Amino acid sequence: MCGIVGYVGKLKAAPLILEGLKRLEYRGYDSAGVMVCQDGKFVLVKKAGRVANLEKEAAKVRLTGHFGMGHTRWATHGGVTDANAHPHISSDGQIALIHNGVIENYISMKKFLLTKGYQFVSETDTEVLGNLLAYHYAKEPANAEESRFVSAVRKTLLHVEGTYGIVVMALDAPGELVTARKGSPLILGIGDGESLVASDVSAIVSRTQSVVYLNDGEIAHLTPSSFSITTLAAGEVSPVIDKVTWSITDAELNGYTHFMEKEIFEQPAALENAMRGRFSEDGSTANFGGLNITPAEFRNMDRFMFCACGTALHACMVTEHLIERFARVPVECDYASEFRYRNMPLFSNTLFFVMSQSGETIDTLAAMREAKRKGYKVLAINNVVGSTIAREADGGIYQHVGPEVGVASTKAFTSQLLIGGLLSLYIARMRDMSFSDGVQFVQALKGAPDHVRTVLMQAEHIKGIAKRYAKYRDMLFLGRLSLFPIALEGALKLKEISYIHAEGYPAAEMKHGPIALISEECPAVFFVSSGEMFHKVINSMQEIKARGGRIIAIATESCQLPDGLADEVIIIPECHEAVLPIVATIPVQLLSYYIAVELKRDVDKPRNLAKSVTVE
Ligand code: GLU
Repeated sequence: MCGIVGYVGKLKAAPLILEGLKRLEYRGYDSAGVMVCQDGKFVLVKKAGRVANLEKEAAKVRLTGHFGMGHTRWATHGGVTDANAHPHISSDGQIALIHNGVIENYISMKKFLLTKGYQFVSETDTEVLGNLLAYHYAKEPANAEESRFVSAVRKTLLHVEGTYGIVVMALDAPGELVTARKGSPLILGIGDGESLVASDVSAIVSRTQSVVYLNDGEIAHLTPSSFSITTLAAGEVSPVIDKVTWSITDAELNGYTHFMEKEIFEQPAALENAMRGRFSEDGSTANFGGLNITPAEFRNMDRFMFCACGTALHACMVTEHLIERFARVPVECDYASEFRYRNMPLFSNTLFFVMSQSGETIDTLAAMREAKRKGYKVLAINNVVGSTIAREADGGIYQHVGPEVGVASTKAFTSQLLIGGLLSLYIARMRDMSFSDGVQFVQALKGAPDHVRTVLMQAEHIKGIAKRYAKYRDMLFLGRLSLFPIALEGALKLKEISYIHAEGYPAAEMKHGPIALISEECPAVFFVSSGEMFHKVINSMQEIKARGGRIIAIATESCQLPDGLADEVIIIPECHEAVLPIVATIPVQLLSYYIAVELKRDVDKPRNLAKSVTVE
């Protein structure tokens, strides 16, 4: 979490940094700060609250320097105060630092630094690191072979336990930035007479499309006209310059009120992008470019294991259902954060998948590293090209849906569902699925964007329902089979942006506890599809109705719901089992969005959350 921007170049740094911080605000919005080096001084403005607050404060100060950095914080150590906002300046005034992550051994470092006379004005772990940098910088001989600045950062980081993405400035080296990472993303922007660093490409893409993805354990030294990278162990690194393929307009609102709204309505196009080029020439199976695993190896896998967090885990659960149903191969899903520590026994012929929109989710990254350490091949499903998970995985599948800015995931989720469908088709066609069933499956997936368009056309109807239901404080989401994970996703969506308490359950589980919540005050959203589960789901709805609960039914068009059973009905198209979860997701996204708008919530930046969770 947290947004980082640094700039050294020919332009005034502060406006560029503030612009970058606005683009990064979705990564953390507890406080923000900007600092430039000018006239031999650090000039710092920092403020609790949003970047808009910081902008107001910054407008009162003369910020003319061409070198500087800024930060949006997602607090881990210390409250949301001006003093705890970054940048932090060391107590000797020599070093300034911004940081993403957690310094786990900050207490012992602080004790040591207090004995050396360093002082502290914040409660953060970051300030401790800043003072330790100053301590090593002061000790560094001026005639050292490499830059005194880089050498001091390297020595400091050797003492650090925890995670960091840092940018450091030294008062006596004003045109230089030193940046380093372990567990938190950092990207260098290589411009014409200017260099940038950011935690996310969206903060720098307006200046340059030439980027270098820094790896864990690397330190970069930037000046306006040069950059060099070394490892923590002082080894040379030959950097690879990549080109960013999207432009800044992809990350703008383009007439919508919120990014979440934009990203919901973008889904038909996003799905088309996610499936483009991914069908075999004979139209009977899926085709992936970067799996880096031969069909024969794939064919030999006895099991698949999926790890993810949050929304992506729900996409994994749908994928589990589809692979088991169509390819008849056992699949296991786990929270990445749990998998990492529970030392789960795995079968030998298991192929490991991780899913993360950002490709930076720290728990997912750690789960992937654990699986690799155990000798398993890991494939990643990610949206952000060049992300850490994408680079460390053995192969993978990109979602190709462009930047997702809204903190609540929408288009990333449905594209993950689509990729889950493609994967299940691919695996099924390697096993027992016939050519003609494969062709039918392909046609069904190709039809997904149109089905989504049809549901989006009901936005006004769903908005009306949202207005009627925004007053409730609790809600249940209930579905079966592949729609159970969509119930989980619906509940998650609602709670994260509207702060209404919501739970997702398999519909029949309701009787084993959650039914105690049902009253006139707790409505239930049911997913109803035609087919084997129809009557069972109707029974569950009757049980709710009998206890006075209100019901919103999201039902496929051929379902004949008993009169009066549902208080509200949203009809979705009848579609293939691999497409149904995608189509059924749209109404719950819209419902949550419109309820949150009705309640005047900050839809794109819900409280306590941040996109791309890079702390454990
Ligand atoms: N641990 C640091 C703090 O609480 C950095 C948090 C962040 O990543 O924003 O200030």
